[in-house]
Amino acid sequence: MRHIAGIIGSPVGHSLSPVFQQAALEACGLDAEYQRWETTAAVLPTRVAALRESRYLGANVTIPYKEQVIPMLDELGGQSARVGAVNTIVNRAGRLLGFNTDGPGFVAALREQLAFDLAGVDVLLIGAGGAARGIAFAVADAGARRIGIWNRTADRAARLAGDVTAAGYRQVFPLPAPPVTADYDLVVQTTSVGMDGGPEPGGAAPGLDGARVGAVAVDIVYAPAMTPFLREAGERGLRTLGGLPMLIHQGALAFELFTGVPAPLDAMFDAARRELASRQAEAPR
Ligand code: NAP
Repeated sequence: MRHIAGIIGSPVGHSLSPVFQQAALEACGLDAEYQRWETTAAVLPTRVAALRESRYLGANVTIPYKEQVIPMLDELGGQSARVGAVNTIVNRAGRLLGFNTDGPGFVAALREQLAFDLAGVDVLLIGAGGAARGIAFAVADAGARRIGIWNRTADRAARLAGDVTAAGYRQVFPLPAPPVTADYDLVVQTTSVGMDGGPEPGGAAPGLDGARVGAVAVDIVYAPAMTPFLREAGERGLRTLGGLPMLIHQGALAFELFTGVPAPLDAMFDAARRELASRQAEAPR
C-alpha cells in the first residue's frame, strides 16, 4: 500500500513542506507521497477524521488550524498540550496523536547550525504568536535562565509569560516596551514582520538597540533568507541565523514521527533551498 501524508492549512499553496517532505521520503526509498491539502474550516473535521485510515501516515498542520485540530485528536504528546497547538498529527493504528515540533525544531536548529547550547542563557523573544509559544516552552525546557517576551500587543506577551510560568518555570516575564537587548545572549524575532507577503515586508521588528556584539540573533522568517532584522543584526556584530533551519528541523522531527526513519536532513535542506531559489528567480522585480 502506498502511504500518504500531507499538510493541512489555508492557504497552503506556498508551503515548502510538500517539497522537502517528498524529497525526504524519496531519499529514504519509502513508497509514500506527501500532499498539499488546502482545507476550509468546514471540511477540517472530515479531513482530520480521514487520517485514521491505514494508508495515512499523518499530517502537518499550519495556519490557521494549529489550535482548532486539538479536539479532533485522541491524545496529545510532546509539548503540544502545554503549548496549546499541534503542528503534527500521527496516525497510530487508527488513533490520532498530536505533537508540536516547532519549538524542538528551533532548539535543534540552533544546536546544529551554531552549536548553541541554551542551558543558562538569557533569551529575548520578540513576538508572542503561535510560533513564539512553541519556542518559549522549548527554550525553557532546554534550560534557558531568563526569558523576556515583548509583543506589539502587550496582553499576548503577558499571557504567554504567564503560561510558561504556570508550567513551572521562573524568570519568564513580559516586557512593557520595545526592549534594550544588551542583557541577552539570544534574541529571537518570531513576528511575521520582514516576511515576503507579510504585514511589513520591509520592516525590522524593534529590539536590537544596545544588543551585545557576539550575541546570537535568530529570525524565524525564512523567506526572504535575509530579512531586515538579520541585516541589522549582522551590521551590529551579532551572530545570525535565518528561519530555514528551524523549518527543516521541525519537519524532520515530524518525518520521524510519521515514518520511524531518521530524517535525511541534507536532502531536505537541498530540496527547500532549490525551491526557494527558483521562487526568487520567478518573482516579479
Ligand atoms: P501568529 O500566531 O499570527 O503571530 C504573529 C506575530 O507577529 C504576533 O506576535 C503579532 O503581534 C506579530 N505581528 C504581526 N504583524 C505585526 C506588525 N505589523 N508589527 C509588529 N508585530 C506584528 O503567527 P506565527 O504562526 O507565530 O508566525 C509568525 C512568523 O513565524 C511567520 O512569519 C511565520 O512564517 C514564521 N514561522 C516560521 C517557522 C519556521 O519553522 N521557520 C515556523 C512557524 C512560523 P500581535 O500579537 O501584536 O498581533
